[in-house]
Amino acid sequence: MSIEIKHVTKRYAGYTALDNISLNVDTGDLVALLGPSGCGKTTLLRIIAGLDTPDSGSIFLEERDTTGIPAREKNVGFVFQHYALFRHLNVFDNVAFGLRVRPSQTRPSKNEIRDRVVYLLKLVQMEWAVKRYPSQLSGGQRQRVALARALAVNPKVLLLDEPFSALDAKVRQELRRWLRKLHDDIHVTSIFVTHDQEEALELADRIVVINKGRIEQQGSPQEVYDHPANAFVYNFLGNVNVFHGRLRDGKVLVGDHLIEAGKRIGHHEAEHGQAFIRPHEIGISRIRSGKNDIVGFIRDIRLMGGQIGLELETAGFDKPIEAEIPRETWRNLELSRGDEVFITLDRATVFTGDYVI
Ligand code: ADP
Ligand code: MG
Repeated sequence: MSIEIKHVTKRYAGYTALDNISLNVDTGDLVALLGPSGCGKTTLLRIIAGLDTPDSGSIFLEERDTTGIPAREKNVGFVFQHYALFRHLNVFDNVAFGLRVRPSQTRPSKNEIRDRVVYLLKLVQMEWAVKRYPSQLSGGQRQRVALARALAVNPKVLLLDEPFSALDAKVRQELRRWLRKLHDDIHVTSIFVTHDQEEALELADRIVVINKGRIEQQGSPQEVYDHPANAFVYNFLGNVNVFHGRLRDGKVLVGDHLIEAGKRIGHHEAEHGQAFIRPHEIGISRIRSGKNDIVGFIRDIRLMGGQIGLELETAGFDKPIEAEIPRETWRNLELSRGDEVFITLDRATVFTGDYVI
């Protein structure tokens, strides 16, 4: 089922939680709403579900205006951040719950309910736990049961509000991959809310970046990561070095270094600009490789999985530059702490104007 959000605005006592949000989700897509805490993600999800009404704007599900229709009549499935399983019911009864409370005309038979619950528990790989109670399961297992429960009523839309954020990093990563595979199998139109950019990048077909109740950018993970529309998105999507300075011929003057822009976004008459560059976009070499090279010293070396993280000290910059290079490259460079290096910032994106994050 496709979802169309049209000009949705929501205010709480004068505070604008959602400011004219418009968004389309295609049938079968998995879309991530990504943004910092308090930006309006849960508010939007609750409005789509029908748990809340917007002050203005509308929600269309499969081209039907469903604004104001309550959640129970909308056929949406929900999974929340905090485990919402019934503590006094075992796993089987938790998953069966939504089917058993249906009015008798639409309630499936006992056998049909059993078959559906067993099918769903197999789908989420929890069939071994039918008789267990939530307190006997790990956090990740509980969230998988919660997902089975949400799917029991055959929802046309699945809404997931930070379902993994209370779990530790390793489990979170496993569940994220597992959910992606599950979605590829069942293809329910899904909206996944998260404040974790890695989770959004890895999981979603499309990412919608939200800030202060507005959409900053939407696109495929690759698009938003490689071509951030503005400084907020650039900063929010991953580690980044930011250099502020005056603009001179479209370059940013920091100390007495001119940072060339690989790409420039914004108006040209601006006086100030910010150069953004991700740690892995920084070039490091033992010898001068171009006229824009900056001389620096290696202040710190950190092992980061397959990469080496470097902290580089440079005269004229008020903070160290963070760089990341593959281990292989690092070995070949044969450098150590305190050594002099030549740093290239040519792949920076320059945002002009006084925008400050
Ligand atoms: P997120 O899920 O992105 O963290 P929320 O949608 O929960 O953000 O909240 C967005 C903003 O709206 C926050 O500033 C929050 O304090 C405010 N807000 C949310 N719900 C209510 C409410 N029921 N009453 C008053 N303010 C609210
Ligand atoms: Mg929230």
